[in-house]
Amino acid sequence: MSRFWNPVVQTLTPYVPGEQPQMQRLVKLNTNESPYGPSPKALAAIQEQATGDLRLYPDPEGTALKKAIADLHGLDAKQVFLGNGSDEVLAHVFLGLLKQAKPVQFPDITYSFYPVYCKLFGIDYQTIPLGSDFEIQANDFKSPNGGIIFPNPNAPTGRAIPRVDIEALLSRNTDSVVVIDEAYVDYGAESCIPLLRGPACPENLLVVHTLSKSRALAGLRVGFAVGHPALIEGLERVKNSFNSYPLGRLAQAGAIAAIQDQAHLESTTAKVIQTRERLVAELAALGFKTLPSTANFIFTRHPEHAGEKLYQALRDRGIIVRHFQSPRIEDFLRITIGTDDQSNELLAALQEILAGA
Ligand SMILES: *Cc1c(COP(=O)(O)O)cnc(C)c1O
Repeated sequence: MSRFWNPVVQTLTPYVPGEQPQMQRLVKLNTNESPYGPSPKALAAIQEQATGDLRLYPDPEGTALKKAIADLHGLDAKQVFLGNGSDEVLAHVFLGLLKQAKPVQFPDITYSFYPVYCKLFGIDYQTIPLGSDFEIQANDFKSPNGGIIFPNPNAPTGRAIPRVDIEALLSRNTDSVVVIDEAYVDYGAESCIPLLRGPACPENLLVVHTLSKSRALAGLRVGFAVGHPALIEGLERVKNSFNSYPLGRLAQAGAIAAIQDQAHLESTTAKVIQTRERLVAELAALGFKTLPSTANFIFTRHPEHAGEKLYQALRDRGIIVRHFQSPRIEDFLRITIGTDDQSNELLAALQEILAGA
C-alpha cells in the first residue's frame, strides 16, 4: 500500500490466476492448458519470424490474422477484433461496450475476472444465480441491464447451454450487448458464431475466443472477438486509445498458422474429450459427483470429503488442481483434463486419499 496509489487502485482486488509452479515433476491440472502442445505449423511459423525484422513494429491491425479467422468462421474480416489474450479483449469489451448506465449481468458462479474488470472500470454489476444443478438459466437474464456476459460452457462448472437458448435470449434482450465467452467451446459445446454470418448478424451479439485453451497457445497470448462490424469498430477505438500493437510479429504469425491447422485442433480436442469421459466414469466409481462437462476441465466433489482437504492432499502428492473458497462451490475441485497418464496419477492419488492413507 502506498499513499501515491489512486483511490481506485486502493480498492482493487485483482484476479488471482492459477499458480504456475516452478517445481518440476508436478501433475499440473489447474489452469486448463492443453496437455498436447500447439500445432507444429504454428511453432514453425513463429521460428520463421524470429529474424532481424523484429526491429520493425508489427501490423497494428493484424490484417492477415483477421482474414484467417474470418475465413475459418465464414465471416467478414471487419467482424474480427484481436487482443493480447482474450482477457485483454474482455477488458476492452467491459470498458467499450458494457460500461453503461444500467448494471451488467453475469452468473453468480462464473469466470472471476468479470467482477474484477467491473471494479477497475467502475461498472455496476448484478449477478444472476445459476440453477440448482449449476446450470445457466438464460431466461433469468431478463431485467433491464447494461449488458450480459457469460462463458459457454460456463467456467468453472463446465456446463454449456444450447445455442437456441442464446437465440431466445437475444430475441428478448435487444437493448444491450450479449457477450458469449467461448473459451472452451471446442470441447463439445455449440458455438454462437454461425449466428453472426451474413446480413442476419445481430447488432448486439459478441462472441469471444482464445487460442490459449484448445489451440494450446496460452504462452503466445492471442484472443479475439467476433460480432457486428459496428461493435468491432467500437472495440478498435478503445484498443487504439490504449495500445496500438497488442500482438507482436511472433504472435500474429503463430496464430495464423494455428488457426489454419484444424486437423491438429480436432485430433487434440478429441483426445481430451475421450480422457474426460473416462475420468468422469472412474471418478464416479470412487463416489465423486461430477457436473456434466463440455470443457477441457471437470467440476467435481465427493459427498464425504471437503474440497479444501482433497485439494491439499493432492497438492501434498504433487498434483495441482483448482479450488475456490466461495459459497456453494467450496466442496468442488476444478480439474483440468490432462493426458491419460496424468489422469491415472490423479486417480491413484485420490484412491489413496479416500482410503485414508
Ligand atoms: C482462460 C479463459 C479466458 C482467458 O484466456 P486468455 O489466455 O486471456 O486468452 C477467458 N475466459 C475464460 C472463461 C477463460 O477460462
